[in-house]
Amino acid sequence: MRAGLRMKLTLCALALSIGQTAAAPAGANPLEALRTLDTRLIAVGTRLATANVSLCDQRQHQPGMSIHDLSQYERGERPAVAAAFGLADGPGVLALAPSGSAERAGLLPDDNIIAADGTALPRAPADSDAGYAPMERIVTALEAAFADGVATLDIRRRGQPMTIRVAAEPGCASRFALSPSERLIARADGRYVLLSAGMIAFMRDDDELAASVAHELAHNILRHRARLNEAGVDRGFLGRLGRSGRLFRQTELEADRLAVHLMARAGYDPEAAVRLAIRQSRGDARLFAGTHPDWPARLAAMREEIAAILAARARGETAEAPLPRGSLTGTRD
Ligand SMILES: [Zn+2]
Repeated sequence: MRAGLRMKLTLCALALSIGQTAAAPAGANPLEALRTLDTRLIAVGTRLATANVSLCDQRQHQPGMSIHDLSQYERGERPAVAAAFGLADGPGVLALAPSGSAERAGLLPDDNIIAADGTALPRAPADSDAGYAPMERIVTALEAAFADGVATLDIRRRGQPMTIRVAAEPGCASRFALSPSERLIARADGRYVLLSAGMIAFMRDDDELAASVAHELAHNILRHRARLNEAGVDRGFLGRLGRSGRLFRQTELEADRLAVHLMARAGYDPEAAVRLAIRQSRGDARLFAGTHPDWPARLAAMREEIAAILAARARGETAEAPLPRGSLTGTRD
Protein backbone atom coordinates (compact mmCIF):
# COMPACT_ATOMS: atom_id res chain seq x y z
CA MET A 1 0.00 0.00 0.00
CA ARG A 2 2.98 2.34 0.09
CA ALA A 3 2.83 4.60 -2.90
CA GLY A 4 5.87 5.56 -4.83
CA LEU A 5 3.74 7.78 -7.00
CA ARG A 6 5.35 7.75 -10.39
CA MET A 7 2.61 9.13 -12.55
CA LYS A 8 4.81 10.45 -15.26
CA LEU A 9 2.90 9.25 -18.26
CA THR A 10 5.01 7.31 -20.69
CA LEU A 11 3.21 6.35 -23.83
CA CYS A 12 5.68 3.57 -24.63
CA ALA A 13 4.94 1.95 -21.29
CA LEU A 14 1.23 2.41 -21.83
CA ALA A 15 1.34 0.99 -25.34
CA LEU A 16 3.25 -1.99 -23.96
CA SER A 17 0.73 -2.55 -21.20
CA ILE A 18 -2.22 -2.26 -23.55
CA GLY A 19 -0.56 -4.55 -26.04
CA GLN A 20 -0.11 -7.21 -23.37
CA THR A 21 -3.71 -7.30 -22.22
CA ALA A 22 -6.48 -9.22 -23.85
CA ALA A 23 -8.94 -6.53 -22.80
CA ALA A 24 -7.76 -4.00 -25.37
CA PRO A 25 -8.55 -4.52 -29.02
CA ALA A 26 -5.51 -5.26 -31.15
CA GLY A 27 -3.90 -2.11 -32.47
CA ALA A 28 -5.82 0.13 -30.07
CA ASN A 29 -4.52 3.68 -30.06
CA PRO A 30 -2.62 3.96 -26.75
CA LEU A 31 -3.91 7.48 -26.23
CA GLU A 32 -7.54 6.47 -26.51
CA ALA A 33 -6.80 3.34 -24.47
CA LEU A 34 -5.45 5.64 -21.75
CA ARG A 35 -8.70 7.60 -21.79
CA THR A 36 -10.79 4.40 -21.65
CA LEU A 37 -8.91 3.08 -18.61
CA ASP A 38 -9.00 6.45 -16.87
CA THR A 39 -12.74 6.80 -17.50
CA ARG A 40 -13.36 3.44 -15.81
CA LEU A 41 -11.15 4.40 -12.86
CA ILE A 42 -12.65 7.85 -12.28
CA ALA A 43 -16.19 6.45 -12.66
CA VAL A 44 -15.68 3.70 -10.09
CA GLY A 45 -13.63 5.91 -7.75
CA THR A 46 -16.15 8.75 -7.78
CA ARG A 47 -19.07 6.39 -7.18
CA LEU A 48 -17.31 4.72 -4.21
CA ALA A 49 -16.16 8.04 -2.73
CA THR A 50 -19.54 9.79 -2.96
CA ALA A 51 -21.76 6.85 -1.95
CA ASN A 52 -19.67 6.33 1.21
CA VAL A 53 -19.23 9.95 2.30
CA SER A 54 -21.07 9.26 5.57
CA LEU A 55 -18.29 6.82 6.59
CA CYS A 56 -15.48 9.33 5.98
CA ASP A 57 -14.27 11.93 8.45
CA GLN A 58 -11.93 13.42 5.85
CA ARG A 59 -13.90 14.64 2.85
CA GLN A 60 -13.56 16.51 -0.40
CA HIS A 61 -15.93 17.35 -3.23
CA GLN A 62 -15.72 14.91 -6.12
CA PRO A 63 -16.64 16.45 -9.50
CA GLY A 64 -15.86 13.14 -11.23
CA MET A 65 -13.22 14.25 -13.68
CA SER A 66 -9.61 13.43 -14.27
CA ILE A 67 -7.31 15.92 -15.90
CA HIS A 68 -3.91 15.74 -17.49
CA ASP A 69 -1.25 18.19 -18.51
CA LEU A 70 1.51 18.18 -21.11
CA SER A 71 4.09 18.50 -18.32
CA GLN A 72 3.38 14.86 -17.34
CA TYR A 73 4.55 13.56 -20.70
CA GLU A 74 8.06 13.16 -22.02
CA ARG A 75 9.05 16.16 -24.12
CA GLY A 76 9.26 14.12 -27.31
CA GLU A 77 5.72 12.82 -26.84
CA ARG A 78 4.11 16.20 -26.22
CA PRO A 79 3.31 17.12 -29.86
CA ALA A 80 1.42 13.83 -30.39
CA VAL A 81 -0.40 14.17 -27.07
CA ALA A 82 -1.30 17.81 -27.73
CA ALA A 83 -2.69 16.90 -31.15
CA ALA A 84 -4.64 13.85 -29.93
CA PHE A 85 -6.22 15.54 -26.91
CA GLY A 86 -6.36 19.17 -28.01
CA LEU A 87 -4.06 20.11 -25.13
CA ALA A 88 -3.04 23.69 -25.75
CA ASP A 89 -4.09 26.19 -23.08
CA GLY A 90 -3.48 24.48 -19.79
CA PRO A 91 -4.60 21.17 -18.34
CA GLY A 92 -7.23 19.25 -20.23
CA VAL A 93 -10.10 17.01 -19.23
CA LEU A 94 -8.89 13.46 -19.87
CA ALA A 95 -11.88 11.54 -18.54
CA LEU A 96 -15.27 12.17 -16.97
CA ALA A 97 -17.25 9.86 -14.72
CA PRO A 98 -20.49 9.13 -16.58
CA SER A 99 -23.27 11.10 -14.85
CA GLY A 100 -20.77 12.65 -12.42
CA SER A 101 -21.23 16.31 -11.55
CA ALA A 102 -18.71 17.61 -14.09
CA GLU A 103 -20.33 15.73 -16.94
CA ARG A 104 -23.82 16.78 -15.88
CA ALA A 105 -22.63 20.40 -15.82
CA GLY A 106 -21.66 20.10 -19.48
CA LEU A 107 -17.90 19.63 -19.33
CA LEU A 108 -16.52 17.52 -22.20
CA PRO A 109 -13.35 15.48 -22.63
CA ASP A 110 -10.53 17.62 -24.04
CA ASP A 111 -11.91 20.88 -22.66
CA ASN A 112 -8.88 22.94 -21.55
CA ILE A 113 -9.31 24.42 -18.08
CA ILE A 114 -7.85 27.90 -17.83
CA ALA A 115 -9.06 29.19 -14.48
CA ALA A 116 -11.17 28.17 -11.51
CA ASP A 117 -13.26 30.72 -9.57
CA GLY A 118 -11.51 33.50 -11.49
CA THR A 119 -7.97 32.39 -10.60
CA ALA A 120 -5.71 31.09 -13.36
CA LEU A 121 -4.53 27.53 -12.81
CA PRO A 122 -0.77 27.03 -12.31
CA ARG A 123 1.16 26.38 -15.52
CA ALA A 124 4.38 24.46 -16.14
CA PRO A 125 7.06 25.92 -18.41
CA ALA A 126 6.66 24.45 -21.90
CA ASP A 127 10.15 22.88 -21.79
CA SER A 128 9.90 21.39 -18.27
CA ASP A 129 11.06 17.83 -17.68
CA ALA A 130 8.31 15.24 -17.52
CA GLY A 131 7.02 14.94 -13.99
CA TYR A 132 4.00 15.09 -11.73
CA ALA A 133 4.85 18.19 -9.64
CA PRO A 134 3.03 20.70 -11.91
CA MET A 135 -0.04 18.44 -11.98
CA GLU A 136 0.03 18.25 -8.19
CA ARG A 137 -0.18 22.07 -8.06
CA ILE A 138 -2.99 22.13 -10.65
CA VAL A 139 -5.02 19.46 -8.84
CA THR A 140 -4.51 21.24 -5.51
CA ALA A 141 -5.72 24.55 -7.01
CA LEU A 142 -8.78 22.87 -8.51
CA GLU A 143 -9.62 21.16 -5.21
CA ALA A 144 -9.34 24.52 -3.44
CA ALA A 145 -11.88 25.95 -5.89
CA PHE A 146 -14.21 23.02 -5.15
CA ALA A 147 -13.79 23.33 -1.37
CA ASP A 148 -17.21 25.02 -1.07
CA GLY A 149 -18.73 22.48 -3.48
CA VAL A 150 -19.09 24.76 -6.48
CA ALA A 151 -16.43 25.93 -8.93
CA THR A 152 -16.79 28.23 -11.90
CA LEU A 153 -14.41 26.98 -14.57
CA ASP A 154 -13.13 29.14 -17.43
CA ILE A 155 -12.43 26.72 -20.24
CA ARG A 156 -11.51 26.67 -23.90
CA ARG A 157 -13.32 24.19 -26.09
CA ARG A 158 -11.56 23.86 -29.45
CA GLY A 159 -10.18 27.34 -28.79
CA GLN A 160 -13.51 28.94 -27.89
CA PRO A 161 -13.75 30.47 -24.38
CA MET A 162 -16.66 29.28 -22.24
CA THR A 163 -17.61 29.31 -18.58
CA ILE A 164 -19.07 26.25 -16.85
CA ARG A 165 -20.30 26.09 -13.27
CA VAL A 166 -19.84 22.69 -11.65
CA ALA A 167 -21.58 21.76 -8.39
CA ALA A 168 -19.66 18.72 -7.13
CA GLU A 169 -20.91 16.03 -4.77
CA PRO A 170 -19.29 15.57 -1.37
CA GLY A 171 -17.18 12.45 -1.07
CA CYS A 172 -14.39 10.78 0.83
CA ALA A 173 -11.04 12.56 0.49
CA SER A 174 -9.02 10.67 -2.12
CA ARG A 175 -7.61 11.35 -5.56
CA PHE A 176 -7.86 8.58 -8.14
CA ALA A 177 -4.89 8.27 -10.46
CA LEU A 178 -3.76 5.93 -13.22
CA SER A 179 -0.17 4.76 -13.60
CA PRO A 180 0.75 3.57 -17.10
CA SER A 181 2.67 0.54 -15.85
CA GLU A 182 1.79 -2.87 -17.23
CA ARG A 183 2.50 -4.44 -13.82
CA LEU A 184 -0.34 -5.24 -11.41
CA ILE A 185 -0.19 -2.25 -9.07
CA ALA A 186 -2.80 -0.90 -6.65
CA ARG A 187 -1.65 1.47 -3.92
CA ALA A 188 -2.86 4.03 -1.44
CA ASP A 189 -0.78 6.61 0.43
CA GLY A 190 -3.44 8.39 2.46
CA ARG A 191 -4.19 10.89 -0.29
CA TYR A 192 -4.06 8.98 -3.57
CA VAL A 193 -5.58 5.77 -4.82
CA LEU A 194 -3.29 4.66 -7.61
CA LEU A 195 -3.99 1.82 -10.02
CA SER A 196 -1.83 0.76 -12.93
CA ALA A 197 -3.09 0.25 -16.47
CA GLY A 198 -2.16 -3.42 -16.12
CA MET A 199 -4.26 -3.73 -12.97
CA ILE A 200 -7.33 -2.12 -14.54
CA ALA A 201 -6.99 -4.32 -17.61
CA PHE A 202 -6.76 -7.38 -15.30
CA MET A 203 -10.30 -6.71 -14.05
CA ARG A 204 -13.06 -8.70 -15.72
CA ASP A 205 -15.73 -6.10 -14.96
CA ASP A 206 -16.37 -2.91 -13.01
CA ASP A 207 -17.39 -4.89 -9.90
CA GLU A 208 -13.87 -6.36 -9.76
CA LEU A 209 -12.38 -2.94 -10.43
CA ALA A 210 -14.53 -1.57 -7.60
CA ALA A 211 -13.10 -4.29 -5.33
CA SER A 212 -9.55 -3.13 -5.95
CA VAL A 213 -10.37 0.60 -5.71
CA ALA A 214 -12.48 0.04 -2.57
CA HIS A 215 -9.62 -1.83 -0.88
CA GLU A 216 -7.22 1.07 -1.53
CA LEU A 217 -9.85 3.67 -0.60
CA ALA A 218 -10.40 1.76 2.65
CA HIS A 219 -6.67 2.12 3.45
CA ASN A 220 -7.09 5.91 3.10
CA ILE A 221 -10.38 6.09 5.03
CA LEU A 222 -8.81 4.07 7.87
CA ARG A 223 -5.68 6.30 7.85
CA HIS A 224 -3.48 3.24 7.59
CA ARG A 225 -0.33 5.03 6.51
CA ALA A 226 -0.56 7.41 9.48
CA ARG A 227 -1.53 4.67 11.93
CA LEU A 228 1.35 2.46 10.76
CA ASN A 229 3.72 5.39 11.27
CA GLU A 230 2.28 6.05 14.73
CA ALA A 231 2.86 2.38 15.57
CA GLY A 232 6.51 2.79 14.54
CA VAL A 233 6.37 0.26 11.74
CA ASP A 234 9.60 -0.77 10.05
CA ARG A 235 9.18 -0.24 6.30
CA GLY A 236 12.54 -1.80 5.48
CA PHE A 237 13.13 -5.30 4.23
CA LEU A 238 13.20 -6.77 7.75
CA GLY A 239 9.92 -4.99 8.50
CA ARG A 240 8.19 -7.83 6.74
CA LEU A 241 9.05 -10.03 9.69
CA GLY A 242 7.81 -10.02 13.25
CA ARG A 243 5.78 -7.18 14.73
CA SER A 244 5.84 -4.90 11.67
CA GLY A 245 4.66 -7.73 9.46
CA ARG A 246 1.77 -8.33 11.83
CA LEU A 247 0.88 -4.62 11.75
CA PHE A 248 0.84 -4.61 7.93
CA ARG A 249 -1.31 -7.74 7.88
CA GLN A 250 -3.74 -6.14 10.33
CA THR A 251 -4.19 -3.14 8.00
CA GLU A 252 -4.79 -5.48 5.05
CA LEU A 253 -7.53 -7.33 6.90
CA GLU A 254 -9.11 -4.06 8.06
CA ALA A 255 -9.11 -2.80 4.44
CA ASP A 256 -10.55 -6.09 3.15
CA ARG A 257 -13.38 -5.96 5.70
CA LEU A 258 -14.31 -2.31 5.05
CA ALA A 259 -13.94 -2.61 1.26
CA VAL A 260 -16.88 -4.99 0.78
CA HIS A 261 -19.11 -2.56 2.71
CA LEU A 262 -17.93 0.33 0.51
CA MET A 263 -18.77 -1.76 -2.55
CA ALA A 264 -22.22 -2.77 -1.34
CA ARG A 265 -23.15 0.77 -0.29
CA ALA A 266 -22.14 2.03 -3.76
CA GLY A 267 -24.25 -0.62 -5.50
CA TYR A 268 -21.43 -2.96 -6.54
CA ASP A 269 -21.48 -6.72 -5.99
CA PRO A 270 -19.28 -7.35 -2.91
CA GLU A 271 -18.76 -10.98 -4.02
CA ALA A 272 -16.54 -9.56 -6.76
CA ALA A 273 -13.94 -8.89 -4.03
CA VAL A 274 -13.82 -12.63 -3.30
CA ARG A 275 -13.66 -13.53 -7.00
CA LEU A 276 -10.82 -11.06 -7.56
CA ALA A 277 -8.89 -12.23 -4.48
CA ILE A 278 -9.11 -15.85 -5.66
CA ARG A 279 -7.78 -14.89 -9.09
CA GLN A 280 -5.00 -12.80 -7.55
CA SER A 281 -4.05 -15.51 -5.08
CA ARG A 282 -3.42 -17.91 -7.95
CA GLY A 283 -0.93 -15.55 -9.55
CA ASP A 284 0.55 -13.41 -6.84
CA ALA A 285 0.44 -15.28 -3.56
CA ARG A 286 4.20 -15.20 -3.02
CA LEU A 287 4.56 -11.61 -4.19
CA PHE A 288 2.75 -10.33 -1.11
CA ALA A 289 4.18 -12.77 1.42
CA GLY A 290 5.14 -11.02 4.62
CA THR A 291 3.13 -7.80 4.58
CA HIS A 292 -0.08 -9.33 3.26
CA PRO A 293 -1.97 -11.95 5.23
CA ASP A 294 -2.37 -15.35 3.73
CA TRP A 295 -5.23 -15.54 1.31
CA PRO A 296 -7.41 -17.93 3.37
CA ALA A 297 -7.55 -15.36 6.22
CA ARG A 298 -8.33 -12.54 3.79
CA LEU A 299 -11.05 -14.53 2.03
CA ALA A 300 -12.59 -15.53 5.37
CA ALA A 301 -12.68 -11.89 6.51
CA MET A 302 -14.38 -10.78 3.29
CA ARG A 303 -16.89 -13.63 3.41
CA GLU A 304 -17.76 -12.86 7.03
CA GLU A 305 -18.50 -9.21 6.20
CA ILE A 306 -20.47 -10.14 3.07
CA ALA A 307 -22.62 -12.50 5.15
CA ALA A 308 -23.33 -9.64 7.59
CA ILE A 309 -24.16 -7.30 4.67
CA LEU A 310 -26.59 -9.79 3.13
CA ALA A 311 -28.21 -10.63 6.48
CA ALA A 312 -28.79 -6.94 7.21
CA ARG A 313 -30.11 -6.41 3.69
CA ALA A 314 -32.62 -9.25 4.19
CA ARG A 315 -33.93 -7.36 7.25
CA GLY A 316 -34.22 -4.17 5.18
CA GLU A 317 -31.23 -2.65 7.00
CA THR A 318 -27.70 -1.57 6.16
CA ALA A 319 -24.93 -3.47 7.92
CA GLU A 320 -22.68 -1.41 10.15
CA ALA A 321 -19.33 -0.89 8.45
CA PRO A 322 -16.24 -1.71 10.55
CA LEU A 323 -14.25 1.52 11.01
CA PRO A 324 -11.35 0.78 13.37
CA ARG A 325 -9.55 4.02 14.16
CA GLY A 326 -7.43 3.22 17.19
CA SER A 327 -3.82 2.19 17.60
CA LEU A 328 -2.67 -0.81 15.57
CA THR A 329 -1.76 -3.65 17.86
CA GLY A 330 -0.65 -6.32 15.43
CA THR A 331 -2.96 -8.88 16.95
CA ARG A 332 -4.20 -11.14 14.28
CA ASP A 333 -7.61 -10.17 12.85
ZN1 LIG B 1 -3.84 -3.38 0.86
